[in-house]
Amino acid sequence: MRPFDYTRASALDEAAQALDPAAQIIAGGTNLLDLMKIQVMTPEKLVDITRIDGLDEITADDGGLRIGALVTNTALANDAQVRRGWPLLSRAILAGASAQIRNKATTGGNLLQRTRCPYFYDTSQACNKRAPGTGCAARHGVGRMLALFGTSEHCLAAHPSDMAVALTALDASVEILSADGTTRQVPMQAFYQGPGDRPDVETVLAQDDIITAVILPAPLDQSRQVYRKVRDRASYAFALVSVAASVKVEDGRITRANLAFGSVAPHPYQNAAVTDLLIGQVPDNDLFARVAEQLTHGSAPHPDTEYKRPLLRRTLIAALRQATGLSDDAGVDTARA
Ligand code: SF4
Repeated sequence: MRPFDYTRASALDEAAQALDPAAQIIAGGTNLLDLMKIQVMTPEKLVDITRIDGLDEITADDGGLRIGALVTNTALANDAQVRRGWPLLSRAILAGASAQIRNKATTGGNLLQRTRCPYFYDTSQACNKRAPGTGCAARHGVGRMLALFGTSEHCLAAHPSDMAVALTALDASVEILSADGTTRQVPMQAFYQGPGDRPDVETVLAQDDIITAVILPAPLDQSRQVYRKVRDRASYAFALVSVAASVKVEDGRITRANLAFGSVAPHPYQNAAVTDLLIGQVPDNDLFARVAEQLTHGSAPHPDTEYKRPLLRRTLIAALRQATGLSDDAGVDTARA
């Protein structure tokens, strides 16, 4: 690990003043410290925000919740309000990482975790995300965990978060404090950026922005929420594919369908055409098969991820059957690719 300066901020304005292009915010540190140890990330300064009051609180807000950026993944998943109104979020968080990591990992940090593309972690390999302009070793390398959608010629990596996928399906927003003291809310759908020709730039955050909270709107009344994650083993594994769904059925027809897909794009993935196919329809297996086909048509950008297309189809169909009451199968979170 390279030497770095360390600053512990006691207030948000103090943290904002300490930020500069060579600095990184640290909270739980569950991803950042690993990356610093292997010199994939080499900040010259860490700004510790863990002692700032009020960022670790979950507060009811107009039927929804305001989740402070320092709320740990464990606290969020176990919160009684979350389990009651947004079980999809609780389930997604508990499907990720390990208990020890969830105890340290924070809400803000979870959103900003880096890809698990193995070449990103290997400093002997070309990687545009780690070292812009060096190339992409994954293009002609091993690519089983790469993305299906939203890639560019410069990067094929997938975003690994479970929580972000759930928050996207739940129409959450990210509250961001800018250096000038103003606060803005950015919907999850607009928070991440595709790789384009700058895969190292992953979100709309400016260098001196600070995530202060996630805003969760009131849940859809009488909707069913589902999170299905398929992975190589039953715990402590990133998703191969995941599906988050919040679906409402009224008078036998689907009237709302908020869907998001994980580990298939550089960000939680959504597809409006898929939603359009569902709205107003009577839920049945033929409909779900058509919808799944619509989602996965085309070819994968890397031959190693071709398997994700049928896997995603099956996972989506299972999630829709569960969310519309056609099936009571709550799903087993292990790979059956
Ligand atoms: Fe790096 Fe992205 Fe290529 Fe992986 S896919 S090696 S993260 S540029």
